[in-house]
Amino acid sequence: MPSDDELRKALLYALGLGYQLCPDALEALRSLPEGVEPTELLKEVLEALGPSGRSFIRGEDVEEALGRRAPAPVGAPRPIPAREVEADIEVLMDPTGAPAPPGSVEDFLRYFKDRFERLSSLLRMRMDARDASTVAAALRAGQNSEVKMIGMVREKREGDGKLVVVLEDLEATATVVFTPRAGSSAYDTATRLMPDQVVCVRAVKIAGDLFLAKELVGPDVPLARRENTKLDGPLYAVLISDLHYGSRSFLHDLFGRFLSWLKGEVGTRRLRELAGGVKYVVIAGDLVDGVGVYPGQEEELEVKDVVEQYEGVAELLSELPDHIEVIMIPGNHDACRKALPQPAVPKKYAGPLYEDDRFHFFGNPSLIALHGARLLIYHGNSFDDMVSTVPGMAFDRPLEMMRLVLWARHLAPTYGLKTPIAPLAEDLLVVEEVPDVFHTGHIHVAGSGGYKGVLLINSGCWQAQTPYQRARGIRPTPGRAFLVDLHGLGVRELDFTRPELWA
Ligand code: FE
Ligand code: ZN
Repeated sequence: MPSDDELRKALLYALGLGYQLCPDALEALRSLPEGVEPTELLKEVLEALGPSGRSFIRGEDVEEALGRRAPAPVGAPRPIPAREVEADIEVLMDPTGAPAPPGSVEDFLRYFKDRFERLSSLLRMRMDARDASTVAAALRAGQNSEVKMIGMVREKREGDGKLVVVLEDLEATATVVFTPRAGSSAYDTATRLMPDQVVCVRAVKIAGDLFLAKELVGPDVPLARRENTKLDGPLYAVLISDLHYGSRSFLHDLFGRFLSWLKGEVGTRRLRELAGGVKYVVIAGDLVDGVGVYPGQEEELEVKDVVEQYEGVAELLSELPDHIEVIMIPGNHDACRKALPQPAVPKKYAGPLYEDDRFHFFGNPSLIALHGARLLIYHGNSFDDMVSTVPGMAFDRPLEMMRLVLWARHLAPTYGLKTPIAPLAEDLLVVEEVPDVFHTGHIHVAGSGGYKGVLLINSGCWQAQTPYQRARGIRPTPGRAFLVDLHGLGVRELDFTRPELWA
């Protein structure tokens, strides 16, 4: 390890040339192996950066430079701490096996009643919604008096600078008007409301069933600093999604590189070290491209039989070192019920993925604790509806939709658009428990961020842009994986499209 003097010298050298060091770059310099002089290495970093216009140096820049200098020989022994750790997987919620009624009117009435009750009790846990009344009580209030009520959004209409929301509960209906003047933050929030969401409104009674909104709150998640005390050092889960195996656009090479990294065969010294700490691979759906998912799909398939597609996935995943466990859920391309919540893909299609006891297939969504760290894993099927109905949502901004879902405490708020919902006796799409990590996929654009202490990760894809996406201007970001430390709950994005990192 370099001395403090050597580090200071390196830091001043970079600053002198107008470069800042990110915290992870400093960390990487601090852990340089014996005999590597930090300033000399920084010179190589800057040379490689060239005239990129970037004025900060990242940890991976340092690791790359180190990798170029002395690529560790293939097959060199490396520490594999994850091998010493026993798997600890606790299933907190899995819809697989929950009976799905046929979907009569009564089934749906019961389903929505259950949703309403669950979400209103989440709302009543908030200080500012605890004392809310029913819609009927608000209707009985005198003119000009202030009321607070909880209701489900039945309808949202926009016109001449105001927004009209029809709110209903189990017995009555009210019409609530939002204007920027009466409450500008309520108005802004209301523009993003989706039908069938449950919210609390503070409003002034105008006349009859008409109210003027002052404030709008969703169930939301409480702000918290989350930590996992069950582990006492780093242990990693790698989050990915949307392999679309079987499609002609499945990126064999990139996925091969990903597997080689986990096998300890490629990567800079630091990246190989990290691979040794990986205990889990978590896949948020669309393992295969499926068959008959959209018209004309046949043309784009390399493997045209769905069972063979799952065989291919199993073959790839079985290359993983045997101390790594794989957690999987289905997506809209997988061979199971399309209506949410989706059960795990049945054995008759995905047989090989049940043969190995390191493979764990759960439903979509599922809440799984890994060594105590709670992951809410959801494919993201409803994101399509959010993009088409909520202003500000877009296919290249997954985090916005993930935040909206947590604010609503519901994974698929609207019924009757493109996302089918099965009317289960209990609404398992309600986000009852706040997770430590919220992991989604589906829109093929990678991103990570946070919301009130929850780590948000949309894990991208392993499929190149398809003609379908090209026609819609969707630009996927394939070849990304997210390394999540189950202890510290921090994340690091790994980009497998950059060959220099994976020599
Ligand atoms: Fe997908
Ligand atoms: Zn999908």
